[in-house]
Amino acid sequence: MNTPDILKQPVTTLPGIGSRTAENMDKLGIRIIQDLLFHLPIRYEDKTRIYPIATLSAGTTALISGRVEFIDVLPRGRKSLICRINDGSGSIDLRFFHFTARQYTVLKPGTLLSCFGEVRFGYAGLEMVHPEYNIIQHADAAVTETHLTPVYPLTEGLSQTNIRKAVKQVLDLCLAQPKILTDWLPEPILIRFQYPALLAAIQSLHTPEATITLEGLQNGSASALKRLAFEELLAHHLSMKLAKHKAKAWRSPDFSTDHGRFIAPFIDSLTFTLTAAQLRVMSEIALDCRQANAMMRLIQGDVGSGKTIVAAYAAMLALTAGYQVALMAPTELLAEQHYRNFNAWFKPFAARVDLLTGQIKGLPRKEALQALADGSTKIMIGTHALFQDEVNFNRLGLIIIDEQHRFGVHQRLALRAKGQQGDVRPHQLVMTATPIPRTLAMLQYSDLDISIIDELPPGRKPVTTSVIPSARRTDVINRIDNWVANKKQAYWVCTLIEESEILQCEAAEITAERLTAALPNVRIALLHGRMKNSDKEAAMLAFKNHHVDLLVATTVIEVGVDVPNASLMIIENPERLGLSQLHQLRGRVGRGVDDSYCLLMYQSPLSDNARQRLGILRDSNDGFLIAEKDLQLRGPGEMMGTRQTGMVNFKIADMVRDAELLDNIPPIADALFDDNPEAVAHLIDRWMGQNTNYSEV
Ligand code: ADP
Ligand code: MG
Repeated sequence: MNTPDILKQPVTTLPGIGSRTAENMDKLGIRIIQDLLFHLPIRYEDKTRIYPIATLSAGTTALISGRVEFIDVLPRGRKSLICRINDGSGSIDLRFFHFTARQYTVLKPGTLLSCFGEVRFGYAGLEMVHPEYNIIQHADAAVTETHLTPVYPLTEGLSQTNIRKAVKQVLDLCLAQPKILTDWLPEPILIRFQYPALLAAIQSLHTPEATITLEGLQNGSASALKRLAFEELLAHHLSMKLAKHKAKAWRSPDFSTDHGRFIAPFIDSLTFTLTAAQLRVMSEIALDCRQANAMMRLIQGDVGSGKTIVAAYAAMLALTAGYQVALMAPTELLAEQHYRNFNAWFKPFAARVDLLTGQIKGLPRKEALQALADGSTKIMIGTHALFQDEVNFNRLGLIIIDEQHRFGVHQRLALRAKGQQGDVRPHQLVMTATPIPRTLAMLQYSDLDISIIDELPPGRKPVTTSVIPSARRTDVINRIDNWVANKKQAYWVCTLIEESEILQCEAAEITAERLTAALPNVRIALLHGRMKNSDKEAAMLAFKNHHVDLLVATTVIEVGVDVPNASLMIIENPERLGLSQLHQLRGRVGRGVDDSYCLLMYQSPLSDNARQRLGILRDSNDGFLIAEKDLQLRGPGEMMGTRQTGMVNFKIADMVRDAELLDNIPPIADALFDDNPEAVAHLIDRWMGQNTNYSEV
């Protein structure tokens, strides 16, 4: 199989890779042959040169060669075999905790050895513990490698040798048949940035020349690494451009009819005055909806800035033009809250609003689906259950996605096809409270137009935030007692490890029990994701109606909880969460007339970085600033909070390390888009081919 398609074949196509190995490779994201090329080493070992022993220092990993001076078994500390070797410049001990009698006889004084290992401080100066070693005849024989040795990320069941061999096979294949791997970056770009050609770049990262500096390979300044990161970022940007370009061919529902009839009374019916920012964004939406192409707009606005009513306005435009609306929220809690609000807002206009989540089953579900399909339901609110095949709209004109950062980019793009009739596609409005730094927005949202609500409703007071150690838990509990005695309400948020929902819920249950014991005068309710829907609703309602004083919850309340009388929030272990998520959680308080407080109760000891991060939250209530600082404080490779930004996972690029590459990308993408559609298609396919079928989007 010598066609370019060979790289798309499963790894089992390679000789020597069976289904067991393939399963293990799958855990590393390696599925097709091409994935091996982009599975880069995490570090390298240098076995290309011998270091004089005198030049070694603790922490270096090095190849040395020398003669055995003496050998002994020392009982001091743990029993170990010590073998001192000397190369004329100095001596070093080799230490073996596990050894055999044979080793003792073979390593006799005078024997010439080559050793490779990490140098550390031992009892008697520098030593190497369990180095790799070989008995050699000449000092020259110590050097066996002409290139640096790659060390790959592994998973259980795979060895370095497995991966090295597999990668080598693919590299050999590409070298023998250069057509297999076409370089789609235009020559002038390679010249301009002094980037190596694709295969050369890949090859030099897997088997670097001995002359290259290890540092450059590791910190990303190596041109080979830069080139690949650049190509990947370019491909992501191109895929967004392509999505936008394709969207231009769709027609969209015309919402320009009959504006006066409902819109003005709708706005008049609100109990508050819209902010200037809300009005501005509404007019941007109205303008979009009169264009021939579908609206694709992102509303960015800090938590509490009032995005929901803007979405309701867009829904009203759709309704008056005789279309249905789908509103998707990331959690059932938020979907239910929207359902209540939209019901209240649309009741006077006799528009039927309905709710569809995974928990609505049986007859009610059947009826809901029927009413949607025959057009009697005008606004359908739900979780991602909305986009299942069984859900059929009668005349869908607008899709609204709330808290879009909770959904992946690919998910969002895939949703667009829903509701398509012929070449007519619904308008789309997506909302997020997590501000995306400009650089990220370029990769993620460049297919969307962006509106920003940069103003909070009047009368909002900033939340006063303190950072306190959990040693002061008792004080905090007393504070809740006083707080509740003053007829106010509070939240207690248990975070624990975010990935483990079960543990998080258990922690909340235990905390609720303990607080109930400690606070006999406080009415406490529990809310977490694994409770039955009816129990969740009951807890929420009781809190809203002030039949409950303290809500002990997991991070499920991050979105969609709006209880103005709750003005104190305690967040346990805030150091475990990303700043934007903490900011979003904190946004649950500060919604009423009272002064509001947020206590970040951390577990000691706090790392320097965590201290700095929590400090940012204490000092600022500005979501945009917090997001920028959050990114700055992350080190390369640290993708904390990726879920919050709905950020795509890169194979090679790193948002922090490679940020400087981004500025060059838009103009290059524009040029490529106009001049070389073939390259565009191949680049997208190479880097994102398995994620999404973009031709469907
Ligand atoms: P978010 O942008 O976080 O989604 P919401 O839409 O949930 O914010 O609005 C937060 C709260 O502010 C809600 O209770 C909403 O009714 C209220 N609100 C929205 N706009 C205004 C306004 N212009 N004046 C006063 N309150 C408002
Ligand atoms: Mg909201």
